[in-house]
Amino acid sequence: MHRFMFWRSLKLRLFVIILTMGVLPALFIYHSVLKGYEDRAVGVRTSDVQNQLTILANHLITYNYLNDTSSEVVNAELGLLSNLYSGRVMVINNRLKIVRDTYGISDGKTMVSEEVIKCLKGSSLTNYDRVNGYIEITVPIIEKISSVNATDENPEGTEIIRGVLLASTSTDTITATIQILKHRSRIILHIVIIILFALAAFLSWIIVRPFDKISKEIESIQSGMTHESLSVRDYLETQHIVSAFNSVLEKMQKIDESRREFVSNVSHELKTPLTSVKILADSLNANDDVPVEVYREFMSDITAEIEREDKIINDLLSLVRLDKDAAKLNISTVDINALTEIIMKRMRPIARKNEIELTLVSLREVTADVDEVKMSLVLTNLIENAIKYNSPGGTATVTIDADHQYFTVEVADSGQGIPDEDLDLIFERFYRVDKSHSREIGGTGLGLAITKSAVLLHKGTIKVESTPGEGSRFTVWIPLKSSAGMKE
Ligand code: ADP
Repeated sequence: MHRFMFWRSLKLRLFVIILTMGVLPALFIYHSVLKGYEDRAVGVRTSDVQNQLTILANHLITYNYLNDTSSEVVNAELGLLSNLYSGRVMVINNRLKIVRDTYGISDGKTMVSEEVIKCLKGSSLTNYDRVNGYIEITVPIIEKISSVNATDENPEGTEIIRGVLLASTSTDTITATIQILKHRSRIILHIVIIILFALAAFLSWIIVRPFDKISKEIESIQSGMTHESLSVRDYLETQHIVSAFNSVLEKMQKIDESRREFVSNVSHELKTPLTSVKILADSLNANDDVPVEVYREFMSDITAEIEREDKIINDLLSLVRLDKDAAKLNISTVDINALTEIIMKRMRPIARKNEIELTLVSLREVTADVDEVKMSLVLTNLIENAIKYNSPGGTATVTIDADHQYFTVEVADSGQGIPDEDLDLIFERFYRVDKSHSREIGGTGLGLAITKSAVLLHKGTIKVESTPGEGSRFTVWIPLKSSAGMKE
């Protein structure tokens, strides 16, 4: 596991890449310089010796050396040549007999070698023996028939190979130079590799540093040392990571804030009825002979507060269930018109009591794939609000319509309306435009939050339009089929 972690390090990978990219060319240059020098040195030496041998071969013919080796001039030339190139020169005639060996060892012997036989056929050969450190060169000794020697068999101008010059020259000087070159190049190569090591380490450190900075800053944020956002801006890439992280951080801070606010709101809302109950009970306890009517009145107030507490708890439970069962929508095919009618029937007594005229307008018969319980919560809350936040003699109209993809339920009332600045906030948990009025009429501030959650679970949308003093209109779009997407 640890070994894998080590190899997954970006710093290490960059280090290896930079080092490889530096070391490989350096090694290539090192070898090609040495090889280049060797090839060139051997080439120059070979062609020098070849030229000298060609000149010598002419002199051998001129002085008839193959038949008579006494020529001082040629012998001096041979000596000079073998000294100059620290090598050995052998003159071999066309019967493979060694006429002259500058080392004086093989004079008179017969030379049977592939190179010599090939050379007698006319081709000049060279052979570099790197292991033993010498170059072997063979040059044919050619006689060009002059007019004096011309016969019928060999007319003037004919070239006849009379023998072979075989030279072997030592490459010790070349090898020595190569050794010196190698030694110096190695020192340079080592220095280059050390510099490359340092450079690769430095560059990989520099390149990865912003990422290290990011993780350090994230760690310090995580450990609670700072609550600030990230600020590493070195690269475009790190900037993207930083801004993505910051937006996640911001979102989490908002979630944390809203959670804290929610908990404090819940505690407050739950405490209010309890405080009232305690005050009512305490005042009954404090007086010994409380008339029965007062007792009854206080007890019915206590019951009302308990009912309120019960309603808040039920609403909270509905909300929590909506959050928890997000993935679990209990989808079935529901007759939306019938469902709305049932809910409106339940609402009629309250509407009558508040003197509100409740009407259903069915523009289309709608059946849709929805969760019936959750859809009932949506309709109940919207219709209840249209009645609650209305004035006597007002109207509440529910209109059902559909297109090929969505059905809509529009709940319009002629009530008090909602001020513009509150329109975005009424879907928040516990938000109420007029707190005391809402409490008076039994509102918990959770109804629209529940409604919105249920709508979103159905991948639907909810919108509100309102004119204070004239009324409000809530419209809900829900996909007819449960797999349809969200409406923009
Ligand atoms: P509540 O339980 O208080 O009704 P809701 O979440 O249902 O809570 O509504 C939040 C607030 O939005 C209400 O307190 C009310 O001020 C306002 N509101 C909701 N529906 C209407 C409406 N039809 N007309 C006017 N105001 C409304």
